[in-house]
Amino acid sequence: MHPPENKLTEDSQIQQMPNPKLVSVLLGQHIGAVCSSMVQKKDKVQFGQQIGQAEGFVSAPVHSPVDGVVRDIALQSHPVLGREMAVIIDVDAESSIKPLPNGQFTADFDETAFSDKQIRDAVRQAGIVGMGGAGFPTQVKLEPNPQTPKEVLIINGCECEPFITGDYRMMMEWTYQVIAGIKLACRGAGCPTVRIGIEENKPEAIARMAELLKQCSGAGNMEVVPLKTKYPQGGERQLIKAVWGKQVPTGGIPPMIGVVVLNVATCAAIADAVVNNAPLTHRVVTVTGGAIANPGNYYVPIGTSVQDLIDHCGGLTENAAKVVMGGPMMGLAIADLSTPITKASGAITFLTEETITKAKYERRQTACIRCGRCLTVCPEHLNATRIAHAVKSDLLDVAQNYHMTACIECGCCSYICPANIELTGYIKTGKILLARAKKRMPK
Ligand code: SF4
Ligand code: SF4
Repeated sequence: MHPPENKLTEDSQIQQMPNPKLVSVLLGQHIGAVCSSMVQKKDKVQFGQQIGQAEGFVSAPVHSPVDGVVRDIALQSHPVLGREMAVIIDVDAESSIKPLPNGQFTADFDETAFSDKQIRDAVRQAGIVGMGGAGFPTQVKLEPNPQTPKEVLIINGCECEPFITGDYRMMMEWTYQVIAGIKLACRGAGCPTVRIGIEENKPEAIARMAELLKQCSGAGNMEVVPLKTKYPQGGERQLIKAVWGKQVPTGGIPPMIGVVVLNVATCAAIADAVVNNAPLTHRVVTVTGGAIANPGNYYVPIGTSVQDLIDHCGGLTENAAKVVMGGPMMGLAIADLSTPITKASGAITFLTEETITKAKYERRQTACIRCGRCLTVCPEHLNATRIAHAVKSDLLDVAQNYHMTACIECGCCSYICPANIELTGYIKTGKILLARAKKRMPK
């Protein structure tokens, strides 16, 4: 697919966002077991303090991004799960602020100063998860498996989703930190080879990463791979196929074929965690779309509400109509502006009334005309219309027979459908209903 790119913020340097007055740190920001709270109401917490205990191997601890006092531990809107428990913190007026990276990483960075175990422990302790949107705990990916040794680490620098530019800016501005994180991840996972996949529509990032890699010591096993610009090139399975030529089996995960995939933001966080002992408390968020006054890329405390981001970015335009957590293809519309930023929230897209009305008028849903286009565009070779029909009919077992959970929610089927059927929406709903039926998610 080739949806319009609309990278409005590609030239916006990453800016610091000041601390808000209140943060809500969700206890479930990752795939796997939700954390249990380690604090209570009225407790004082400090910047970087662990406030959520990981409950299980596939889980990740959470930390406070500020100094403050716990106001409550309560259900809060969650961008994906609907709602989840959160530690709600009143921020001290004098709270520490995490500054933007200070250029401490250079071409001479020596990852061999850290053992592979030290790296994995630091990543686990820092609560690092896949920051490209998946939220899978990173230390689980790095963990060695004697049965399937890891043969390659693939770095996802595609950022193929329209509008989003945070990873691009990090590759341009925090290049040495990103490379340091890649070197550490490579050592932590025991991968002999690294490939960095970047789409051809980012020639400056390709040139900068390739040029600085040449200057770095110990980067001889790393190579930048320019990739064709298409959506969803940055999907994990699509990226592996494009860079390494291997197919992850349906229902499987990349480590099963000896591959580890990390995105650019995750690598930057790994460098910070291992070298500075810094937990994951902040992330770069692209604030974009026609309905926000000052779009840009902001370094944001995790737990900041969407409303606080709106205020910091100059407010919404008069014709604002829809808020999407993420980009337009894979993002989810939200109704509650108190929804907090999570470790996996790379963007918020604000759409105007004109865009919505036009879309509503032009994209009125009609009956399926059985054209088959949804089949031809699906990167996972699924039958989206059959799955959607099964979900509509409340037949989750039938949907599963059509491999509903193999859907990567890329949105291509909905985008291409001439009958404007929200196929991805039905599939997402089906997956949520299935997870609830298996009691993995709150109602
Ligand atoms: S693309 Fe839309 S109209 Fe065509 S077969 Fe799929 S669901 Fe039906
Ligand atoms: S069925 Fe899922 S993976 Fe296939 S095109 Fe639709 S959203 Fe993408």
